[in-house]
Amino acid sequence: MAKMTDRQTVNRWPHVRIDQIIYDGEPCIDRMTDDTLDLLNTMCRDAERRNGWLHRINSSYRDGETGFHPKGKAFDLVFFVDEPGDVDVWDQYRFAKQYPWGGIGAYPEWNAGAGIHVDTRQGIDHVATWWRDARGVYRGINEVQKVYGVMV
Ligand SMILES: [Zn+2]
Repeated sequence: MAKMTDRQTVNRWPHVRIDQIIYDGEPCIDRMTDDTLDLLNTMCRDAERRNGWLHRINSSYRDGETGFHPKGKAFDLVFFVDEPGDVDVWDQYRFAKQYPWGGIGAYPEWNAGAGIHVDTRQGIDHVATWWRDARGVYRGINEVQKVYGVMV
């Protein structure tokens, strides 16, 4: 096993599943920005304390030309109680909206449990929001009620 870095052993983000911040089989926490980890830690702490929600991190840093994962500013995660898929995706989305993320996406059709994307993009005067439908099309949150019959 590779030597642990300071960031893997330090306790600055005790409420985050640090062990799941992995890319291509290797820990990649050193690629993530502090403010992104700090906000994730706060959100996940509250999720567990208030709602009894645990989380699974699906994706953090990953290679690419676009988006906020290659910048170390984004996480894809699933909140759950007993197993991924058992917390309504719109409840997850609404919960994340309480935190100052720059972007929040809902993924109701993820096979291994519906979940959300959060990122710390900056420089816009609103939160970027979206959801992705079963065909992989990115759609506006204003369409959720029409499709799912729920208010978000
Ligand atoms: Zn993402």
